[in-house]
Amino acid sequence: MEKFNFKKKFGQNFLTDTNLLKAIVGDADVKGNENVLEIGAGAGTLTRELAKSTSGKVLSVEIDKTLQPILNENLKGLSNVEVVFDDILKVKPAELCAKFDNKPFKVVANLPYYISTPIIFYLIENDLPIESITIMLQKELADRIVAKVGTKDYGGISVILGLYGEIKKTRDVPRTLFTPRPNVDSSIITILINHNRRNDIKDISKVVKSCFAMRRKTLANNIMQAFKISREQANEILESIKIEPNARAETLDKDKFVLLTQKIRENKLI
Ligand code: SAH
Repeated sequence: MEKFNFKKKFGQNFLTDTNLLKAIVGDADVKGNENVLEIGAGAGTLTRELAKSTSGKVLSVEIDKTLQPILNENLKGLSNVEVVFDDILKVKPAELCAKFDNKPFKVVANLPYYISTPIIFYLIENDLPIESITIMLQKELADRIVAKVGTKDYGGISVILGLYGEIKKTRDVPRTLFTPRPNVDSSIITILINHNRRNDIKDISKVVKSCFAMRRKTLANNIMQAFKISREQANEILESIKIEPNARAETLDKDKFVLLTQKIRENKLI
């Protein structure tokens, strides 16, 4: 391990603290014969704990092929692990599902922070049979995701992920527990995916994103711009569902965004 050159461009900050590794497996609630997708194997420390916690399959997708010798060494003797060297965002959803014989799986990841948001969206928007996602994030992003309506942290990502499932922050992780040590603190969140979710989630996400596009502008301004409508029409849509046109997006809860999406659809704007 001493000889390994950590690659900043891949966000390589590894975990070794056994208590923390076990705690992450506990947060993900991996047990029995469940299947697990890990994103970013690193040196395989978390992969190993995951593989010991289930008799199901642990598939780890790792972008950096130079980790192969270290992974061979650290995962020796574990028969339920498979490592695939690829960029997770380039793995086709169908191929991923086939790796688990189309059975449900849980996702666990300690990822580079610059791609955490695209990876979360890749996972939730592809309708994969995912039971839960347990993911290490930069603390500020985790705080935004779990933020309550009306607070300054509340934003599009809080609303959209809330439509997909129940989100909880399970723990904060200080930067001192990573090698090499990053410049930020981290937190772990778990999203328990709701499989009876609304079927208009993609439209709602579109509306949410457009309402938060210019955070400091009013809802009326944002929807005028996004849906190319007049101020009169924007005001009319908002007032019909008792939303003050001059309000800002952060004052709307999930249910209001659902109503707003329905109105926008009735007006044939999406
Ligand atoms: N899970 C390990 C490693 C964390 S560091 C641990 O906790 O110690 C993040 C890992 O993700 C690195 O090994 C990095 O090479 C890998 N990675 C970065 N971008 C990736 C991508 N797009 N797809 C898959 N793995 C990626």
